[in-house]
Amino acid sequence: MAETNKVLVVGSSNTDMVINMSRLPAPGETILGEDFFVVQGGKGANQVVAAARAGADVSFIACLGDDSFGKQALAAVETEGIGTRYITVLPNQVSGVAAILVDRDGENTIVVAPGANGLLTPEIIGRAKGAFDDAAICLLQLESPLPAVVKAIDLAWEREIPVILNPAPAGDLPEELFQKLYLITPNETETEHLTGILPVTEEDAKQAAYLLVRKGVTGVIITLGSRGAMLVTDDGSVLIPSPEVVATDTTAAGDAFNGALASALSRNLCLEEALRFANCAGALAVTKSGAQPSLPYFSEITELVHRQ
Ligand code: ADP
Repeated sequence: MAETNKVLVVGSSNTDMVINMSRLPAPGETILGEDFFVVQGGKGANQVVAAARAGADVSFIACLGDDSFGKQALAAVETEGIGTRYITVLPNQVSGVAAILVDRDGENTIVVAPGANGLLTPEIIGRAKGAFDDAAICLLQLESPLPAVVKAIDLAWEREIPVILNPAPAGDLPEELFQKLYLITPNETETEHLTGILPVTEEDAKQAAYLLVRKGVTGVIITLGSRGAMLVTDDGSVLIPSPEVVATDTTAAGDAFNGALASALSRNLCLEEALRFANCAGALAVTKSGAQPSLPYFSEITELVHRQ
């Protein structure tokens, strides 16, 4: 591992536009909504903010458009103290946006227009090579085009930087990729997509995780919502329960978990300790509404860890 504790996140950045409404509209129907708000989102941006708040020195490789949403996204990242040197602003392109409709029961309908996120190419990753030189750990998701994800994993692999892949949203992966991963962190539905096994019981989770270990990943962490997370390596398996909390909004629990996990590992915590820290971050995120507004800070996470 590098001498630094820098977490490098490669991924997407979106502006989430949320309208609350009494009920979702039917196709072709127009209805009046209630409150409207704009928040920064995208799995990459959420995880880089989560890692920064969880105490890491972070940098972010991402693409934005040269529109007002891109400017706001860049400003938001700067406010969190995140390095923007490797964020590429693409001329004449729009930034990623998500239109989110939420009804009174919390049911939602989401459309994501990836915009500039869809234009993250292996060439752009190659131009950001410097970001890999001082990284202790590299964290990626699947909201970016697969060739760019593969290129980033290759650059990290060549430099012996451990890679955490959060395979979200669920997608297919080239078989040869697994052996280049230090950790893969699917949730329940992503686990089913990757292995054909929905982890209903602890035994199911173990079985699914071993299938991924056999593909060559060093460690598999299956996140199991309120049940916590299961870690499986060649040395065995352990289910680490999450603290009990009152859940109000589960948005970005996985992002809080992954960012905190990367942050803990960059500080050289062992896998089990890092997992306890990440579970606490995920649990804290579900106690608050929204994506980035709900991501917890280092002091809150460590306080909850010590209360366990
Ligand atoms: P995702 O948000 O990607 O679907 P999960 O729902 O598995 O992922 O949540 C990620 C992590 O967040 C869990 O492993 C756990 O640590 C924490 N978490 C999620 N929901 C709860 C909950 N209701 N209570 C406590 N912790 C939770």
